[in-house]
Amino acid sequence: MSAFRGGSVMSLIVAKFGGTSLADYAAMSRCADIILANPDTRVVVVSASSGVTNLLVELTHKNIAEERRIQLIKQIAHIQFKILDSLGNPQEVAARLDSVLSRISVLSEELGQNRNKPSMDELLAQGEQCSSALFAAVLREKGEAASAFDVRQVMRTDSHFGRAEPQIETISQLTAEFLVPLLSSQRIVTQGFIGADDTGATTTLGRGGSDYSAALLAEALKATAVEIWTDVAGIYTTDPRIAPKASPIAEISFNEAAEMATFGAKVLHPATILPAVRQKIQVFVGSSREPELGGTWIRHQVEDTPVYRAVTVRRDQTLLNLHSLQMLHAQGFLAETFATLARHKISVDLITTSEVNVSLTLDKTGSDSGGNGLLSESLLQELSQHCHVRVEEGLALVAIVGNKIASTPGVCRRVFEVLEPHNVRMICQGASPHNLCVLVAESEAALVVRALHQNLFE
Ligand code: ASP
Ligand code: MG
Repeated sequence: MSAFRGGSVMSLIVAKFGGTSLADYAAMSRCADIILANPDTRVVVVSASSGVTNLLVELTHKNIAEERRIQLIKQIAHIQFKILDSLGNPQEVAARLDSVLSRISVLSEELGQNRNKPSMDELLAQGEQCSSALFAAVLREKGEAASAFDVRQVMRTDSHFGRAEPQIETISQLTAEFLVPLLSSQRIVTQGFIGADDTGATTTLGRGGSDYSAALLAEALKATAVEIWTDVAGIYTTDPRIAPKASPIAEISFNEAAEMATFGAKVLHPATILPAVRQKIQVFVGSSREPELGGTWIRHQVEDTPVYRAVTVRRDQTLLNLHSLQMLHAQGFLAETFATLARHKISVDLITTSEVNVSLTLDKTGSDSGGNGLLSESLLQELSQHCHVRVEEGLALVAIVGNKIASTPGVCRRVFEVLEPHNVRMICQGASPHNLCVLVAESEAALVVRALHQNLFE
């Protein structure tokens, strides 16, 4: 338990607010009220205001026209200054905002001459710099002691720009040294998504990484809970935009939530669960727009463990089909293939094999902060040296998430009955008791999800 208040034992909550929750002044003000309602919420992690990271990503693109570059900077400035102008005392953060915006301008100009990953990451990090400065000001405006804290002081990562790996031990030491002493006198607002390597260069954790940042800080602080405030009231049995009868889930286990996040439930960055599991920190997901609706608690142990918990979908899947006769009664083919993929930092999702074929699915979530895809020419070339490679795109992965799926009779019959009219490109079941996955054409994904949800949940 954290003992930052004069050594007394009390609970500490890390609250994270996503981009839509910080889109404008009114949204920020609602988030501030959520924080003020709970004195245990000492650390606040923010994303960039909605849209800002996308604009910054476009600024990192190759050969961007000067006119477009200026326009993008203006759009970012417009979002941020609109919030600033709504503050009671805008003067207080105006200079800070000015300096961040000129940094954006300098970096984007520099990238035009010399595209390099460290500068790209520094540029991408500026959205969170703006939102944290503004949000701390909103809290102060409500009479609360609060300041913005540069997370790069504590969020140590490796130097894999665009998708940096956090260094857990160091983060916990730095947090104890630099962050904990601040918490007794004020609330701290800090940036999600970004970190720094050991030379001090800014890094990013990959798109949507703020949830992960919040969980990492919670782990380092030994917090009692992480709250993820977003634009939906928790985790649903499926995406309500696909199946309107989807219902909210009050409580779900880490294992189920990890499968859901990995297989497409957009509410949580998949890596968020890792630090929470390591420290058994419970995670709450709720809507900052409608906090009164409650949300979902993700816990180590839950009372209810239904066979069918949710159906998720993840689009934009790539299927890699590897064929080689060398595989026949041979050893080491898979080892070699996976070593190649590992060298290219590719994480594989689903795998099926036959005697002379291996099929793997890859996902865009594995791409870096700049959205650069996974399948590089050099990787394909390397793989082609020892097998025949075929790439299929336009696929969607539909996952049925739950409990004891692999040991409950009748699951397959029920699922395949629903899938009968559809072409299922690949099936994975059995490795985990918590899921059954099918790969279908992206154009059929919504139909498949709706049919499964209707059959299993409605
Ligand atoms: N601002 C970053 C992004 O849009 C990180 C986040 O929102 O979690 O990806
Ligand atoms: Mg997000």
